[in-house]
Amino acid sequence: MANIAFIGLGNMGGPMAANLVRAGHDVTVFDVADALADALVEQGASKAATAAEAVAGVEFVVSMLPSGEIVKNLYIHQDKLLDVIDPATVVIDSSTIASEDAVEVHKTAKSRGIAMIDAPVSGGVGAAKSGKLAFICGGDEAAVDKARPILEVMGKAAFRAGPAGAGQIAKICNNMLLAIHMIGTAEALNMGAAAGLDPKALTEIMAASSGRNWSLDTYNPFPGVMDGVPASNDYQGGFLVKLMNKDLGLAADAAGKLGAATPMGDLARQLYDKHGDAGFADRDFSSILKMFAD
Ligand code: NAD
Repeated sequence: MANIAFIGLGNMGGPMAANLVRAGHDVTVFDVADALADALVEQGASKAATAAEAVAGVEFVVSMLPSGEIVKNLYIHQDKLLDVIDPATVVIDSSTIASEDAVEVHKTAKSRGIAMIDAPVSGGVGAAKSGKLAFICGGDEAAVDKARPILEVMGKAAFRAGPAGAGQIAKICNNMLLAIHMIGTAEALNMGAAAGLDPKALTEIMAASSGRNWSLDTYNPFPGVMDGVPASNDYQGGFLVKLMNKDLGLAADAAGKLGAATPMGDLARQLYDKHGDAGFADRDFSSILKMFAD
């Protein structure tokens, strides 16, 4: 069993840390919101008073934080964890942040001899709770391999996308495509329904035809077509529009810097921004159907 520091115990980090505790690892937690750390202590974790205290003498550090600014402050500028982390430690940052921010942290880690991977996740709070996340990793193969046993406790799969920062790029490529096919699926179902077709029958036809995609056959946005998806629960829970907006913003920034043409991604971003502003920021992203249906 490993000694692990876990930093950032929010909607995702809390259940991820709990799974590590449940698997028998020695987990020391830290969050600026003290009550979140207390909740993990009740489940068997130890609590540190500071981030620096949490990482002392551990084999792995996992962080799950809201933004690149916060990640860089934690590791480099304010808490300066990379000044105190033992070189034998493997650092796993699972936050979704800009690739260049991840690369900056990687470079600083490397200069101190510390192995680091960016390992953003695919899957939401439900997958975090059930230990079924997919980790999309960037970094040296050896570092990813060292992290794998820890990632496998919190997830069902761990992919290596490439070198430092590649995990972040792969994640936003996926989420940009997800936004695009969700919008297309919602548009098509809405048009069919407007013509009087049964959305369930139309789903069956398209799912067996060339329009088949995940938004259609697994996460259908039309209420009542599928059980157990947010569309059939007033778009509660799931993957929130505000988080999709964050990822589409990261994708647009990356595309701009790379000079990559992403006209569909740009349009998806405009539509999702408008949808969030229309009061859907805290609803599941499949609620984009309401933009067309209402
Ligand atoms: P969250 O806001 O619920 O949790 C973030 C936690 O970080 C909070 O508890 C906050 O107090 C803590 N924190 C902030 N600054 C800190 C610091 N300096 N030191 C220690 N703790 C600090 O966010 P979340 O939903 O858990 O998301 C975390 C990351 O995972 C984000 O990058 C998000 O984009 C990504 N993500 C989220 C989802 C999802 O469905 N929620 C899905 C995939 C990826």
